[in-house]
Amino acid sequence: MPFADASGNYADKTIKCSRCHQEFTFTVGEQKFFDEKDLKFPPGKCKNCRAIAKAEREGTKPDQVPAHKEFWGGDDEVGNRRERGNRR
Ligand SMILES: [Zn+2]
Repeated sequence: MPFADASGNYADKTIKCSRCHQEFTFTVGEQKFFDEKDLKFPPGKCKNCRAIAKAEREGTKPDQVPAHKEFWGGDDEVGNRRERGNRR
């Protein structure tokens, strides 16, 4: 449980976004999600900037990003790689 403390408890963490430099909350729920997915590192960007960065990578505009894709998880990126692979 990399995001839990030594007693296995979670607490909201405040992280400064590397893109817009706003502080955002890495919530308990998100930390548990990261642990479930075995993601070792906390997000470096706030939710908004991650959505924008992802949209730029995918060539879509941020307002076209479906709500579920704004969630932190790496699953979408893995899925997208798989889709691209199948198309070839
Ligand atoms: Zn940001």
